[in-house]
Amino acid sequence: MRRWHQMAKEPFAPITRRGFLGALAIGGVGVGLGGFGGTIVDVVSYRNRGRKALHPIYGNSDTPEWLRDVTTGELKPNPQWILRHTTDQQCHSNCGLRVKIDRKTGRVQRIIGNPYHPNTLIDYTSMSVPFIRTAAHPGTVCARGNAGIESAYDPYRVLSPLKRKGPRGSGKWQPISWEQLIREVVDGGKIFADTGDPASESFEVTGFGGLYAKRNELMNPAAPELGHRTNGFVLQCGRTVGARKEFVVRFGQAFGSVNVDDHVNVCELSHHVATDQVFPGKHMTQPDVTDAKFIIYWGTQPGDANFPMQTHGKYAAHARAKPDGLKYVVVDPHLSRGGVIGDRASWVAIKPSTDGALALGMIRWIIENRRYDAAYLSHPTRKAAEAAGELSHTDATHLIIVDEKHPKYGRFLTSEAAGLGGFKGDSAADRVVIDPAGRPARAGAADTARMEYAGEVNGIRVKTAFARIRESAEMHSLDEYSSICGVSKERMIELAREFTSYGRQAVSTMYRGVVKHPNGYYNGVAVLLLNLLVGNMNWTGGLTAGGGSWSYKKGLYDNVDVPEAKGVAYGVMITRQGVRYEDTSEYQALVKAGKNPYPAKRPWWPFSFAMYTEVLPSGLQKYPYGIDILMWNMATPFYSVPGQGNPEIIKMMKDPRNVPLIIASDIVVGDTSMYADYIVPDGSFLERWNVDGTLPTVLTKGTYMRWPVVELTHKTPDG
Ligand code: SF4
Repeated sequence: MRRWHQMAKEPFAPITRRGFLGALAIGGVGVGLGGFGGTIVDVVSYRNRGRKALHPIYGNSDTPEWLRDVTTGELKPNPQWILRHTTDQQCHSNCGLRVKIDRKTGRVQRIIGNPYHPNTLIDYTSMSVPFIRTAAHPGTVCARGNAGIESAYDPYRVLSPLKRKGPRGSGKWQPISWEQLIREVVDGGKIFADTGDPASESFEVTGFGGLYAKRNELMNPAAPELGHRTNGFVLQCGRTVGARKEFVVRFGQAFGSVNVDDHVNVCELSHHVATDQVFPGKHMTQPDVTDAKFIIYWGTQPGDANFPMQTHGKYAAHARAKPDGLKYVVVDPHLSRGGVIGDRASWVAIKPSTDGALALGMIRWIIENRRYDAAYLSHPTRKAAEAAGELSHTDATHLIIVDEKHPKYGRFLTSEAAGLGGFKGDSAADRVVIDPAGRPARAGAADTARMEYAGEVNGIRVKTAFARIRESAEMHSLDEYSSICGVSKERMIELAREFTSYGRQAVSTMYRGVVKHPNGYYNGVAVLLLNLLVGNMNWTGGLTAGGGSWSYKKGLYDNVDVPEAKGVAYGVMITRQGVRYEDTSEYQALVKAGKNPYPAKRPWWPFSFAMYTEVLPSGLQKYPYGIDILMWNMATPFYSVPGQGNPEIIKMMKDPRNVPLIIASDIVVGDTSMYADYIVPDGSFLERWNVDGTLPTVLTKGTYMRWPVVELTHKTPDG
């Protein structure tokens, strides 16, 4: 204080920069000691109060994983710890982990990133680099990945098989032995007699044994397509991934049930279907983030829920920080914390579920202003595109039958139907295009073709796919699109102009926010079509399907099928997926009886798969049949499926007459497993085996192993 007082009285004198910094430093130290001196005294004396801290400065924090030799400077592993690599499953990003385990107790102390894994570092470590040299360069994990320790050591972990003691959902449990569990669920009978639940004490349950004995009986003789009675066993899986998934499918096959399926439709099915329609054979695409110049994120944001989550956020931050690096726009009704950071990112607040309107408005403007890559779109086949130096091709030039009376209305015209001959059974090359001279030609015979055509070929009215898309986009004016989606016309045009200003290094990518609506599939298709207009697929900085992975299903052993059980499991799944209602015995019987077959009791889903949300309502309505035994694995439908945690459904599920036997496999008594009759203890991701692959944001081909890096964290008294 004295010093400031003196300075205030003295006249200002010229000050050099060095002198100024020196004064600041001295002032800083003075203020620091004055402000925190007491704290330091407290810290020193606290160390001697109560239980003594292990170290005067580091307190009780762990010793590091590595020790440095003070004379040579060399690193060596700290023998106190074991370091093991595995793969995370706190989310589906599959990041590689380096798990620090106490050698004495076997307990996990810390989780960091495995630097050899591409998710955890942009410049990840080559497998040829020795382990010891990675000491100073670990990879990253996100906060949720770190919290894997809490999952493994959750104080409420289920330690042994549990059986309800009281009605379903009463929250009362009794531990039972594995022998009792297996005996009761296999033999069935009055297995709830000891629960004290008046509603089920004398209830007769068909166990696995009783149901298996009916493996040759039809579920419904009037509808043989429904398969055998063993389809009454339903295994509803959540994130039951590689290796475990094949195991449960094999179990279903061997038992004779087709009803072993996972969770995709509650998560992102319309995303997969839309992607597959635009990029056949692909369920997911992502931007090549680090080299892209411009990305539009629809219904997702870098650093938020996406795959792989921390990796995508890291890549975007890296790309954004480069001089002349990535610019991106987030199109989402909701601006979250991880989304828009810095002046190279911006947010377009769109009305929920109207992404398709904005995308079609952009498509309209791009086509009207000829901002698309016409040269790329003019190649009708992959062969022609590759000969021109392209990496992919589209069907923009292919002719579609537009005569509504034609039996193949809406399908591509084939060279056979066009009377051109040369039909070779190749679905793309056998289509028809209009060559540059204006003549119909087999697609496989043309290097380039016209993108715009409407007329007749061999008496059949046709248009090019490109013309059909243009017409769809022209169904509304930009003002109309603007009023639908709530984004101004000016912003729409600005987005379209910018998107078409970076050549192949601009990407339109989407995730759940776009597709989780009744019109989600259409939103998704419109958003993805933008990529075709700039021809960015597989280019550096463009759209990518990622590096992929190696199949663990092929090799010496058949890990997928049970050859002896072939044909035992067949029939319509309880979710009615992959089947047309019009092909069922039920529909045909109604028509034959002169009755109106519509509507069906519940919808049929000819194009969908993994219809998780349909399992419980179908079982409760017994349509097309009921459930005898329900198993949940990593599944929480009451929590994760909108509407299924409502009191009405829970009340029905609590009644054993609706679903006689429910077994959950879970690591804790969860919000859905709490309604089971039995809970089987599951392992956390640090304790189980899985195989997984890289996700599309990562361009490296990779297959990962998840393995038990620690023993089951909880043990029963007998071990
Ligand atoms: S992003 Fe990676 S580290 Fe984070 S929870 Fe998901 S898998 Fe784990």
